[in-house]
Amino acid sequence: MTDTSSCASYAPENRALSADEARAHLLAQVAPVAGREFVPLRSALGRILAADIVAPHDVPAHDNSAMDGYAVRFDSLAGDGETRLQVVGSAFAGNAFSGLVGKGQAVRIMTGAVLPAGADTVVVQEVTRVEDGAVLVPAGQKKGQNTRRAGEDLAHGAVALAAGKRVGPAELGLIASLGIAEVAVRRRLRVAFFSTGDELASIGTPLAPGQIYDSNRYTLHGLLTRLGADLIDLGVVPDVPEALEATLREAAGVADAIITTGGVSVGEADFVREILARLGEVGFWKLNIKPGRPMAFGKIGDAWLFGLPGNPVAVMVSYTQFALDALLRLSGLDPLPERPLLTVTAANAIRKQPGRREYLRGTVAAVDGRWQVKTTGNQGSGVLRSMSEANCFVVLPEDCAGVQAGDRVEVQLFEGV
Ligand code: AMP
Ligand code: MG
Repeated sequence: MTDTSSCASYAPENRALSADEARAHLLAQVAPVAGREFVPLRSALGRILAADIVAPHDVPAHDNSAMDGYAVRFDSLAGDGETRLQVVGSAFAGNAFSGLVGKGQAVRIMTGAVLPAGADTVVVQEVTRVEDGAVLVPAGQKKGQNTRRAGEDLAHGAVALAAGKRVGPAELGLIASLGIAEVAVRRRLRVAFFSTGDELASIGTPLAPGQIYDSNRYTLHGLLTRLGADLIDLGVVPDVPEALEATLREAAGVADAIITTGGVSVGEADFVREILARLGEVGFWKLNIKPGRPMAFGKIGDAWLFGLPGNPVAVMVSYTQFALDALLRLSGLDPLPERPLLTVTAANAIRKQPGRREYLRGTVAAVDGRWQVKTTGNQGSGVLRSMSEANCFVVLPEDCAGVQAGDRVEVQLFEGV
């Protein structure tokens, strides 16, 4: 190939890219798409912040009590023995004590109540005794104890949440605690997707001989909905060059990213390749993984194209391992989530030849207090049941030459995907 464009020329024709190389290359290419909108706080759940959230005031706004007890001046307390303090009033959350706490005085105070002027320390109720209008405080109190300082969570003007953060339940609460009712979020990523294959029938239609139902579009519907994208479902496209070309053009006109399944393996790729070369800049990759060896990646107009394999499990592997983080970056998420690999004990032997990185489907469970993983039945790349029954991928590295029961292996939990 004489093409020097970044996508097309990246994979030397006959070399398989490692999973790490492919990921690094994808992530180096894509950058967040422009565009933001303001939404009411509740609607920001799951969205990505387009600007920093800055604290408009201190949080908490006032010094306040962390416990139920008595607000006192530390310098009222004797170094040893009990101190008798006169109780001059009460402070409740939302109903402050307006006076001053003088030397020798205490104010009964509840958790969250503003610390009265003059007081600097709270003595917990449990250690005190009350005797005709006075409270007896034992020795051993520490200055400032059981108080929360104004600005302790967030100082006025501090960045409470940085742009690029996804808004989850904690962020909703945090933004509410600042009194902010509307937030700037990145616009949703628009993702167009379709299935390719002459053998595919859409659900709701009878199967002709030799046909199978298109399942990939439903899997992708689930994955992309979880991602928080705006979905553009373009249906099933037969293996007909004119139809593929028309659909790709349509998709590139309306979407930030296009995901296709099928038609990228050797043989079929030759036929799709010619269309893609005409429409944009797309490279066909051979990945050193199983399942999910073939994949296309590139750009048509302004839209990124992820051409995933056709096999249903391979779709999920290549989506979760490659497309997902690229889509998150396009959506503006920063930093990308770390998906940890956990090391657990293999409950069964797994056959493998050295060479490729393999993603098997497994269930992680605690057996007698130890975490173990068991692979889920038939691991064929067309067997979606192996995904449905699983809660993790068992990730076997390139050089692994098989696993014995009792060996330690790495797993990647599905949670969050
Ligand atoms: P392909 O990559 O197009 O050669 O497809 C590989 C395998 O995946 C074939 O057995 C296809 O029938 C199957 N396949 C392709 N697309 C789909 C789909 N959308 N739903 C279910 N199976 C599919
Ligand atoms: Mg096909």
